[in-house]
Amino acid sequence: SDHRLVYPPHPDMMDWSVLYPDYAVDEPKEDTPAPAQESSEQSVQEGQQETSPESQSQSIVSLNPRKLSKQVEVADIGCGFGGLLVALAPLMPDTLILGLEIRVSVTQFVEDRIKALRLKHKDTQAYRNVGVLRANTMKFLPNFFHKGQLTKIFICFPDPHFKARKHKQRIVSTTLNSEYAYVMRPGGVVYTITDVLDLHEWMVQHFTAHPSFERVSEEEVENDPCVGVMKTETEEGKKVERNKGNKYVALFRRLPDPEW
Ligand code: SAM
Repeated sequence: SDHRLVYPPHPDMMDWSVLYPDYAVDEPKEDTPAPAQESSEQSVQEGQQETSPESQSQSIVSLNPRKLSKQVEVADIGCGFGGLLVALAPLMPDTLILGLEIRVSVTQFVEDRIKALRLKHKDTQAYRNVGVLRANTMKFLPNFFHKGQLTKIFICFPDPHFKARKHKQRIVSTTLNSEYAYVMRPGGVVYTITDVLDLHEWMVQHFTAHPSFERVSEEEVENDPCVGVMKTETEEGKKVERNKGNKYVALFRRLPDPEW
């Protein structure tokens, strides 16, 4: 189908070397790729005919993937055109950063953007630590990430889905927050930003009500360098700036699990 989403049955079957080849610590293997799970579903862009990016669709799933020297630790959920990823890459040069995006053409754009940056900076090895993956983050996060793997999740200007009957499509909800909690390490932080006050209040309400998260204090928010980047470097943040709109920021820390 044109709306195929490819994802590994288990995080151990994800071949991250496709996205971060410079971090592979073993040679490419002679391997029959594992059968990827596939989900045929409507793209968010109704009626748009899209296929998976050629470079990724077949090869990200393997029974015997190459090993990397480090794991992905930072995820940008609904990364759009990749402004945040590209800005974060030099700020966290030793951290693997991943953008997740559902639209095929937008994912392809970000993939090309990263390729071009790597080529332009081939002498310094910059941008080797950033990658993008086509995924529906509402469905398959635990297929990609182990429990406690991520230290930062960014949710920047998510689609607001204004109407009450569309609220179930919001990417912050009680159920999805449990998935974010699962893939996050205790002490890790979820970063949210939106220009829609109602959505901001919705995100604050759903994260503070969740037993695995607490809101980060204003003081800490102000001192966190990632907050400034999120405000100014995302494509949506720039658009809101041009239109002189408001930007509502809230951060939530993953709490340790209670002892049983
Ligand atoms: N974060 C970017 C920024 O701030 O510029 C893009 C914001 S844009 C309003 C929301 C993005 O989330 C779109 O690119 C959309 O395709 C993507 N998106 C929506 N639902 C998604 C999902 N379930 N999984 C992955 N991406 C999704």
